[in-house]
Amino acid sequence: MSITENIEKIANTLPAHVRLIAVSKTKPVEAIEEAYRWGQRAFGENKVQELVKKQGLLPKDIEWHLIGHLQTNKVKEVVPVVTLIHAVDSLKLLSVINREANRVGRIIDCLLQFHIAEESTKFGLSEAEAIQLLESDIYREMQYIRITGVMGMATYTEDEGQIRREFHRLREIYEKLKRDYFPTEVSFREISMGMSGDYPIAIEEGSTMVRIGSSIFGERDYNKPE
Ligand SMILES: *Cc1c(COP(=O)(O)O)cnc(C)c1O
Repeated sequence: MSITENIEKIANTLPAHVRLIAVSKTKPVEAIEEAYRWGQRAFGENKVQELVKKQGLLPKDIEWHLIGHLQTNKVKEVVPVVTLIHAVDSLKLLSVINREANRVGRIIDCLLQFHIAEESTKFGLSEAEAIQLLESDIYREMQYIRITGVMGMATYTEDEGQIRREFHRLREIYEKLKRDYFPTEVSFREISMGMSGDYPIAIEEGSTMVRIGSSIFGERDYNKPE
């Protein structure tokens, strides 16, 4: 199946309130161009250098989503071109984003990443850490970032019950933060969860953004030099 056929098939199954982020990491610009010609405008990358490079080569109406872990020393490069940073997991990182956004005169939309998986390898905040962040004076004084929701990754497992429980937990965290910290902000509305292997469950559990790579572009080849 071609990229066009894959993306069309997936897009047709998504409810209207769920946005598709096409995860193009490791894939060439030609692959992105094919999805673009079909009509896809939101693409996800997990490395700053790769995102910035592709952004420079491709049409300017593409929305670039940084979905991977962001190091503070890479913030400066990505802030001018990014649409949404999905994986903010510390006050320190948020502070640096705020500072660099101020420098270039932008307000950057960010999601707080939560550690919902039982696997210990994944990044992300606990609920308590997020509350501490949101109640800090440093956060309250930030004017150049806007937190628009939450993001998480479920455990990589065949156990659908476990995946569902982890996504359900992220939905609960979202609802609690909405109630306690963003009661009147209509912009706090995103739950970024679901990848190729688990997005139907994520949608049932309340996802508003699915990040899908291999089901659109094919398996990634990590042995290729980057
Ligand atoms: C790679 C990646 C995805 C997409 O994974 P697929 O299984 O290829 O759909 C989604 N989210 C994050 C954070 C990723 O790094």
